[in-house]
Amino acid sequence: MGAMLEALIELQDIEHQIVDIRRQLAAKQRGVARQTAKLRSAEQTLAEGSRDLKRTQVAMDEADLDLKARSARVSKLREDLNTVRTNKEYAAVLSQLNNEKAEASRIEKRAFELMSEVETKRKAAGGHETAVQQETRRLANLKGQLEQAQSSFAERLSTLEQQRAAAAEKLDPKSIDLFNRLSERYEGEVMARVIQVHPRRQEFICDGCNMSVTAERANSLMSRDEVVTCGSCGRILHIEQGT
Ligand SMILES: [Zn+2]
Repeated sequence: MGAMLEALIELQDIEHQIVDIRRQLAAKQRGVARQTAKLRSAEQTLAEGSRDLKRTQVAMDEADLDLKARSARVSKLREDLNTVRTNKEYAAVLSQLNNEKAEASRIEKRAFELMSEVETKRKAAGGHETAVQQETRRLANLKGQLEQAQSSFAERLSTLEQQRAAAAEKLDPKSIDLFNRLSERYEGEVMARVIQVHPRRQEFICDGCNMSVTAERANSLMSRDEVVTCGSCGRILHIEQGT
């Protein structure tokens, strides 16, 4: 194999390591983003629950006030019963009294229902708060892991970038340009081996896409140190000789 193809393969080896590190970092970043969304959702549930609890508490307080007012009116009407002078007046006050009592007992029942509702919602809010704390801790954990990976990879990445630059210096700008385009397209899988399908037949395939490579291309790879690309996937071809 010629010097240029060797330099390209060296470049790809370095590229592989860079792509791998970037992939690991991207996965961690996605994890942080997913967890952030989870925390937001837990916070939203907590906020909605708290608002709902507050509304129920207000309704309960109103029912309590209403009940107090009605109880006072019931007492007042009871007193009035003792001071009325005619049967007609008595009947009128008594009917009012019975109405107020019925209303008071209805509100009392409602106040009681609201109280148990408040209790249930308060418990749920406690659960939502715990969930928020849990998701917050998980997020902090994932962020810590990402930062740790970033700092531990930073040095490795900068070394690799230097190696990459050094390897690129052995190549002409056109080859580097092609390499970079292919690397972007195939996530670092720029080079593909040409494989002879049968030892005695001039049949070759590209290891990158498994499509056939013409004997002409394969032979030119064996005889010259130049960039030959696969006619199907476009990867830069190389061939191992003497095996
Ligand atoms: Zn191919």
